[in-house]
Amino acid sequence: MSAERVTRGVYQVAGPDMTGGGDAAAYLVLFEGEAALIDAGANPDAKGLIANIEEVLAGRGTSLELLVLTHNHIDHVGGAAAIEKRYGVEIVMHSLDAPALENGDDKATAADMYNTHVRPVKVDLQIEEKVYPLELEGGRLTCLHTPGHTPGSISILLERDGDRILFGQDIHGPFLPQFGSDLEAWRLSMLKLLKLKCDILCEGHFGIIEPADTVEAFIRQHLRANT
Ligand SMILES: [Zn+2]
Ligand SMILES: [Zn+2]
Repeated sequence: MSAERVTRGVYQVAGPDMTGGGDAAAYLVLFEGEAALIDAGANPDAKGLIANIEEVLAGRGTSLELLVLTHNHIDHVGGAAAIEKRYGVEIVMHSLDAPALENGDDKATAADMYNTHVRPVKVDLQIEEKVYPLELEGGRLTCLHTPGHTPGSISILLERDGDRILFGQDIHGPFLPQFGSDLEAWRLSMLKLLKLKCDILCEGHFGIIEPADTVEAFIRQHLRANT
C-alpha cells in the first residue's frame, strides 16, 4: 500500500497495514533537499518501505540523509541495514540501545520473539544527551531521551507550521524485564512529553493521534493503565 501523508512534508511509509504485519510504523520527514526516516520496520529487505520512500521522494530532488531509530526492537530496526545499503544514510540512535543492533543481538532486539534474526548495522551517531538536535537543511529534529520501554528509547520532536509533531513510537509499552523496561523512568518520560503539548503524535503501533487534546488523553490513558 502507498505512503500516507500525515501533514506537510511528513509521511507514514511503513506500518502493519501498509508494508507488512511485522512492521511498526515508520515516518519520512522532508526538509529542503534533505529527508530523514524515523524507524525502518521489521523486514530485512525493507522492500515495501523503500518503495514508499521512492514514491514520496520521486521528482522532488530530495535525498534521504538520516535514519533515526527510536529504540532497538526488531519491528523498528529490522530494515535498517537495507536502508543504509540503499541510501548510505547516517544512522542515529541512543547509546544505550545501539549495541543490540550493532551486535545483532536477537534477544535484546526481540528478534527471537519474531522467530527471526536482526541484521546488524553500524550506528554512526550514538546520542547520550537528554536533548539532542539534529540539524537538517531547512529544519531540525529534536531527539528526546524518553527511557521506559527500553533504556535507550527516544522520542523525536518536529516543529512545523506552528504545530508540534511528536514521533513517539512505543511510548505505550509494553514493559518487560527482557527489554530492560523501567516503569518509573517511563512515567517521568511521559510527564515530560505531556508538558510539550504536542498537536500530533505519530505512534509506532497506534498510528496518527491528533489533535492536542487527544494526544494528551492517549498518554494519560496509558499512564493510568500502568499505575
Ligand atoms: Zn519496542
Ligand atoms: Zn514496536
